Amino acid sequence: MPSSASEQNHAVSQKDFSRREFLKVGGAAAVIGVAGVLAGDQINGTPQARAANSGKVKYGMVIDLDRCLGCRACMVACKVENNTPAAAFWMYVFRTEEGHYPNVRIQYTPRPCMHCDNAPCAKVCPVGARYKREDGLVATDADRCIGCRYCQVACPYSVNYFNWEDPKKNQYYDWVKEAPEIQQATGGVIPPYQNPDHELLYGAEKRRISGGSHHHGVMGKCTFCVHRIEKGLLPACVANCPAGVYSFGDLNDPDSEVSRRLNSEQSFTLAEDLGTKPRVHYLGTSPLKDDTRQIDAIVRRV
Ligand code: SF4
Ligand code: SF4
Repeated sequence: MPSSASEQNHAVSQKDFSRREFLKVGGAAAVIGVAGVLAGDQINGTPQARAANSGKVKYGMVIDLDRCLGCRACMVACKVENNTPAAAFWMYVFRTEEGHYPNVRIQYTPRPCMHCDNAPCAKVCPVGARYKREDGLVATDADRCIGCRYCQVACPYSVNYFNWEDPKKNQYYDWVKEAPEIQQATGGVIPPYQNPDHELLYGAEKRRISGGSHHHGVMGKCTFCVHRIEKGLLPACVANCPAGVYSFGDLNDPDSEVSRRLNSEQSFTLAEDLGTKPRVHYLGTSPLKDDTRQIDAIVRRV
C-alpha cells in the first residue's frame, strides 16, 4: 500500500527537524505553534486504502528517544483527548539522568501501553475483559471488567490505572465557575468535557473499550486512541508531538513509516527478556543503564 502525502511529509519533517533546530525556533511558543503539524493527522493512507487492507493491519508505534525534548506535550494531548483522571497517565514521559557530575546526561523516555503481542495482562484476566484485537491493540471491555486488578499486577510496565470513582464532568476544569470569559465568548455554550466517541462500540467484536468514560471499578489504560485510529487518525500523542518522536502505523505494510524506520534503524523494546513482545519499539540509546536514576517519580494512587 503506498504511503500518503502526509506520511511522506512527516518523514521529511523528521529528517530536517533536529533537536537543535527545535531549540532555535524558540521554546514553548514554538511548541504550541507547530504541535500537530509535523505528524499530520492521518495514518497509513486514505481510509479507503486502509479499508482495503482491513483484516491484515498490524498496528505498532515507533518512539525515537534521540528526538524527545521532554516537553510532555504528548502527555497533555493524551489527557485532553481521553479526559483521564488526576494522577492517571496513559502516556508518561520519564525523566532520568545517568552519570556523575560533571558528566551527567538527561534522557526522556515516553511510555504508553506496549500493546504486547504476548500480553500477560490479557492472560490473567479472569473474565476476558482484557483482550487482544485482530489489529494488535490490547483493549479493556468496559462492560465486562470486574475491577479485580489482576491485569495491573501482571503488567510489567505499570500502565494500568484503576478508576476509584465515577468520572468528574471535567477532570481538571470547572467551566461554569472558572471560565466565565469562555462562556461569554461562546455565548453561554459550555465546551463538552467528554468526547461521545468514547462510548461507542469498536472493533469486529463490537465492544465498548474502556476509555474516556472512566467508570468507577473499571481498569483504564492507553487505547492507542482507538476512537481516532478507527477513523484513520493518528493517536493524539503522535499527532501533537512537536519533535516528530512518534511514528504510528501498519507494521505489515513494508512502505509504512513504522516499517521503514524499523528496517533502517536499530531498535529495541522495553524488558525484551520478559517475552511480552511489545508493539511499541524504541529507536536510539537504551535508557536502561545500571546507574540511570529517575528525576521525578509518578505520584499515583494504587
Ligand atoms: Fe515532547 Fe514529543 Fe518528547 Fe512528548 S515525545 S515529551 S511531545 S518531544
Ligand atoms: Fe498489557 Fe501492560 Fe503489555 Fe499493556 S504493557 S499490553 S497493559 S502487559
